[in-house]
Amino acid sequence: MSDLLLELSALEKAYHRGRPNQINVLCGANLKVKHGEIIALVAPSGAGKSTLLHIAGLLDTPDAGEVKFHGEVLNTMSDRRRTMIRRKEIGFVYQFHHLLPEFSALENVMLPQLANGQARSEAKSVAAELLSKVGIAERADHRPAELSGGEQQRVAFCRALANAPKVLLADEPTGNLDQTTSEQVFEILMSVARQTGLSAVIATHNPQLAAKMDRTVTLKNGLLE
Ligand code: ADP
Repeated sequence: MSDLLLELSALEKAYHRGRPNQINVLCGANLKVKHGEIIALVAPSGAGKSTLLHIAGLLDTPDAGEVKFHGEVLNTMSDRRRTMIRRKEIGFVYQFHHLLPEFSALENVMLPQLANGQARSEAKSVAAELLSKVGIAERADHRPAELSGGEQQRVAFCRALANAPKVLLADEPTGNLDQTTSEQVFEILMSVARQTGLSAVIATHNPQLAAKMDRTVTLKNGLLE
């Protein structure tokens, strides 16, 4: 088996294509993510980090280029297969938690598992274990509004991991938190990722956090360096 998990090749993406105000966001971007590798994605705001992560996470398609997962070309596969891979193999964390307000922390972590066909009792025990791993077992029954920003992000992280994905894609996951909380949440995220052998691409503006990852790639002029 190849040691590559995710491979992005020659990705191109433009908005307002063919119009005078065309914005070329990706212009041949390449990235290889190995099993267990944690990569910092650094770029100024507006450079295209979200666009790149959405394409890598199969939430958007490139205009040209390839996304490969385990050597399988994804952007030519059926919608059904793509949805399955997205649900099972890829976890996403955003800058804002996007938890469902009417559900508890535990239920928010159960939902992706139920959507994936997991039995309720099993989904509940996986959710409880994940919340305990990130240190908020005692907040399981709280709704998002009753949690602090750092706790909300920890729940969002558990939700992303609920179906035991192979790769975590995170779009400035601690960008909305104060420095101390940001560092704490990041430490937890890294520790859980290392324990489970998860690969990750984590967009951040923070050079100290980037330095703790295996390597840094910079998105500049539509290319990854
Ligand atoms: P980042 O995450 O690095 O801040 P984005 O990927 O969100 O960057 O955006 C890259 C560029 O593409 C920006 O100039 C943004 O305004 C533009 N853009 C993003 N999404 C759209 C869209 N749906 N339609 C038009 N322009 C977009």
